[in-house]
Amino acid sequence: MSAMLAETRPHEATVVVEAPRRARKRVVIIGAAFAGITAARALRRADAEVVLIDRRNHHLFQPLLYQVATAVLSPAEIAAPIRQLEAKQRNVTVLLAEVTSVDLASRTIEAADPGVGVRKIAFDYLVVATGMRPNYFGHDEFARYAPGLKSLSDAETIRAKILGAFELAATTEDEGERARQMTFVLVGAGPSGMELAGSLAHLVKVTLRGNFHRIDPAKSTIILLDAGKRVLPTFAESVSRRVTRRLTKLGVKVLTGVKVETVDEQGVVAGGTRIPSATVLWTAGVAAWPVPKMLGTKIDRAGRALVDSFLKVVDAPGVFVAGDAASLTQDGHPVPGVAQAAIQEGRYVGRLIAKELKGRKVKRPFRYFDKGNMAVVGKNYAVLERGRLRTGGFLTYLVWAFVHIVALPQLQNRLRVQRQWLWSYFTGQRSSRLIPETKKPGH
Ligand SMILES: Cc1cc2nc3c(=O)[nH]c(=O)nc-3n(C[C@H](O)[C@H](O)[C@H](O)COP(=O)(O)OP(=O)(O)OC[C@H]3O[C@@H](n4cnc5c(N)ncnc54)[C@H](O)[C@@H]3O)c2cc1C
Repeated sequence: MSAMLAETRPHEATVVVEAPRRARKRVVIIGAAFAGITAARALRRADAEVVLIDRRNHHLFQPLLYQVATAVLSPAEIAAPIRQLEAKQRNVTVLLAEVTSVDLASRTIEAADPGVGVRKIAFDYLVVATGMRPNYFGHDEFARYAPGLKSLSDAETIRAKILGAFELAATTEDEGERARQMTFVLVGAGPSGMELAGSLAHLVKVTLRGNFHRIDPAKSTIILLDAGKRVLPTFAESVSRRVTRRLTKLGVKVLTGVKVETVDEQGVVAGGTRIPSATVLWTAGVAAWPVPKMLGTKIDRAGRALVDSFLKVVDAPGVFVAGDAASLTQDGHPVPGVAQAAIQEGRYVGRLIAKELKGRKVKRPFRYFDKGNMAVVGKNYAVLERGRLRTGGFLTYLVWAFVHIVALPQLQNRLRVQRQWLWSYFTGQRSSRLIPETKKPGH
């Protein structure tokens, strides 16, 4: 970033304010994932300074997080350093910092930077692409016992919980406790919960087979529950039925129309019944991170900023929201919170700003092109819905695998994931079965 040091405040946090006179316009992008990175790339030829801010240093490929949580893949295989964008694109500056406030009046944001303190950064254009986080629907206390799946550390926590449960089940003499350790409850039967349940079923039946003399992991109970009427509510009913049948065949108990009332260290209470479980996982819903709210514009119930058909924030010139953080309706339907929508929105916003910087006006609003919805159910089986086409099976799984390999950030990740999948396919084994050591005081 061009000369940034201008002011230091003498209290605990250093405040660094960028110099006000700049030759080029500055585009600040908050969130460096599908939407943010694509927007930055679309600005590669623009005569602008692009500042890409994220509180983590890696772009995470969330669609494969469930495979890290179930030991198929290791974290590095589904993430890529954001910083490498600076090597590829001269007009980009990457900043590892968390945006803590947005002031539209002074056109500045504040970002807490672990090394420097708080930076105040002025912008000419602002793109908010901060995505979503797990939503406990007013019961944040559940988070302590039921981790959500949104980050690599969430996935590692879940993996440790699952693998640790079998270790405890194998050592306890208490039958009730053994059953509790071998009961897994997944709350939320959308794509994440369903994919996690299917992969877990394969882990207990195939990967862990014969690994314990005292217990049989295949006798685990896996429960997928949802307050809604059916699994995969964003897919057609026929696809839901197909997936439910498949999950049942894999040994997953699907309980729909059941509301979770309590989650505690003993398990869950759902639909008035207590289910003892040492591993409760939360895949029930998402809400936006706070940045859209900081814009002071209208937000929907999930905290996403309402944008117009140009992805602009109304009455805030030069301010855009893209990806999961944007609430947009097209032809009477909400644009879904999926990676494709985030990529298309990010690209649109980047191009629009590039054109405006050249003094041209963009007249064509954003249109989401739906390439179809896919989800994996256990080993080698996926479902696809595209327009009127609804299909599922091994061939669909191959299409899913191809699409995901191609979409992964970095060539080395594509090669590594491909190799892991082939290894798992032929041996049933998973190479990332790690329970990280917890450090004891004094060690
Ligand atoms: C488990 C799981 C499985 C999924 N599976 C699929 C799938 O199979 N197919 C599909 O299409 N979609 C899937 N999705 C949805 C898809 O991942 C999202 O639609 C997509 O990631 C949205 O991209 P985004 O760029 O808008 O936001 P995100 O990918 O969520 O990224 C937002 C970024 O903003 C950063 N950020 C947030 N707040 C701040 C702040 N204050 N300061 C700085 N940085 C900040 C975050 O660190 C993050 O890097 C899945 C999501 C999850 C969680």
